[in-house]
Order: sequence, then structure tokens, then C-alpha cells
Amino acid sequence: MRKYLIKDISISEEAEKTIMFQIQSTCHPFTKCLIKSLSELNQQLQEEFSNSEDITETLNKLPIKPQDELFKRVFGCGLQCPFCKVPCEAGGKDHKKHHAAVHRPKGLGGYRIIKNDKLAETLCTTDVHSECKFRNTDTKWELHPFKKYTKYYPDWHIPPDSSIEASDYWKYVLVKYNDRFAEEYKAKPADVPEAWRRITKEQALKGLKDAYNIK
Ligand SMILES: [Zn+2]
Ligand SMILES: [Zn+2]
Repeated sequence: MRKYLIKDISISEEAEKTIMFQIQSTCHPFTKCLIKSLSELNQQLQEEFSNSEDITETLNKLPIKPQDELFKRVFGCGLQCPFCKVPCEAGGKDHKKHHAAVHRPKGLGGYRIIKNDKLAETLCTTDVHSECKFRNTDTKWELHPFKKYTKYYPDWHIPPDSSIEASDYWKYVLVKYNDRFAEEYKAKPADVPEAWRRITKEQALKGLKDAYNIK
């Protein structure tokens, strides 16, 4: 029994021996008693947890803090996409490749178009599918094809996508704060497609929910 339950509860060998010595009955009454006491235990535990008045105190007493574990999961490895600066969403720290469900217009990460110094409105997922090139400190300011980004960022997986689909949320953010991003990055505001200007706040928030399957 101890062997089978080891995953869920720990019974010391000591306890096992004392209990076993006391059980003199045959199998049938034993299982009957066990089932009965399990349902009692179940009820007892439920009461214990539902009655706990101060949840913060209960949380503080736990050896592993659920809020810390949740934070670690959500925070992930802390790395950001080398182009648009979206945080890696791979969960926890132990993963081979960094990835994110939705990449952002690159201007939000400070990328600009070389010839006119405007913030770039294209997405990394579009760029890695195109013939475009990039340069930054990692390439020592030499132009390098987006398609071959893994030369500099082998730990990132940025899926190539020819559709220019940014979630409405990030399009909305870029339109609304275009000037402020430009100011922050000391660049010129991005040329945003006209259609992006018509995105409402509601559509933007819906886009965010759709991207992360939030109902
Ligand atoms: Zn990106
Ligand atoms: Zn990561």
C-alpha cells in the first residue's frame, strides 16, 4: 500500500509496521474500513481547507509558495525576442528553444528602418519569411538576412509567417503610442497601415484574449 501511495502521500515505514501489526482482520473488513475512513478523511480535509479564514496565512505556511511557482511559470526564462522584445513564453526555465505566440511590430522593440529612421512596423514572424535584413550590436552592425536569424539567435524559434497578422492589440498600441515610442527610441514614428488606425480599444483587447485563448 505504501509503495502504491508513495506518489500522493508519504507513510513512514515505522507507521506502516505498527499499523500492520494491529490489523488482524481479513481483507474484506479491512477494505471496508479503509474506504469508510478515506471518505471521512476527504470530508475532513475539505472542511479544513474551505474553513481556513486567513488564506494569506495558510499560503505563508506552505513550504512551496504557489504564488512564487505561478510567477516563475508566467515570468518564464526572462529572455525577450531579439527583435520585437516580446518575452519568451516557453514556461519555466527548462526549455530548449525560446518562443512566443504573438510577435509585435519590431518598432516596439526599438528597430527602425535604416533609410528613413522610422520605427519598423513589420513583425519578426513576417521578416523571417522575407528577404529583409537586419543589423544590431550582435551582428556588429553588419547586415544579416532575417531568414538566417538562427546564426545569431540559435535558441530562438520564430515561426516564419507570410500573413502580416499582428494581434490587434499590438497594432493598437503602436498606433496609439507611436510618437512616444519614437521619442523613447530617438527615431521617427512608424508608418502604420491605415487599417490599423481604425482598430478600436475593444477590438484590441479582444485580439489579446483571442491570442491567449482567454474566454
Ligand atoms: Zn519577435
Ligand atoms: Zn525562454
